[in-house]
Amino acid sequence: MAATYRVRALALRKTKLGESDLIVTLLAADGCQIRAVAKGARKTKSRFGARLEPFSVADLMLSPGRSLEIVTEAETVTSHDALRSDYDRLRAASVIADFLDKVSVECQAEERLFALATATLDAIEVSEIADLRSLVVAFLVKGMAMQGYRPQLAACACCASATDPGDVRFSLAAGGVVCLACAGADLSVVPVASDVPVVMDALIRTRLADISELGVPEAAMNDTFRLVKAFVSYHLPARMKALDAYLREG
Ligand SMILES: [Zn+2]
Repeated sequence: MAATYRVRALALRKTKLGESDLIVTLLAADGCQIRAVAKGARKTKSRFGARLEPFSVADLMLSPGRSLEIVTEAETVTSHDALRSDYDRLRAASVIADFLDKVSVECQAEERLFALATATLDAIEVSEIADLRSLVVAFLVKGMAMQGYRPQLAACACCASATDPGDVRFSLAAGGVVCLACAGADLSVVPVASDVPVVMDALIRTRLADISELGVPEAAMNDTFRLVKAFVSYHLPARMKALDAYLREG
């Protein structure tokens, strides 16, 4: 019998299996995704059920299975209860879990991703409702940067020449602002408001806990969100339903 091992993980998603079991999709602390079976987790007296709810962080004992790991113990680290009981927080947290679910499929062993994820969920749990959108956008920009898509915002992403601050174009393919000459033949270029690169840059540089201090006007944050959503969709083609819905419903 293969040895069990301990791992700290964030629960992203659960799906039913058979009569009383669950398959839980987890982001492990090293940034890799784990899918594990929690036997009997849907029974009312289950020791696991509540500890493996989406958005909760737990210390788990896992036993390697044939295709999926098996959860043998689960101890709550942070339950994030408020993320499941408040609709606005739930929608925001669902975008985070959806993104992590898609980017962690192929393990890149990125410990900062787990730290970013838990810091974002901690912030979403306690923030003012009006600040939730800023946290989601900040998470997406930072998360994309960790995946190798840090946007180039200071000069043209293609030729490094200065860009026109009065006529800002963003190339989804090149991953940054581009000058008018480089924008010409690039089909992925979208025009953006002049404050969008400034907001993106501020979101990358600011810690999650301080995002609300930035005081970005709502219109500028919405413009930034639309661009970030397009940027995410361009590079991570897997459809993110929670992200689509969050942008649509406002
Ligand atoms: Zn250029």
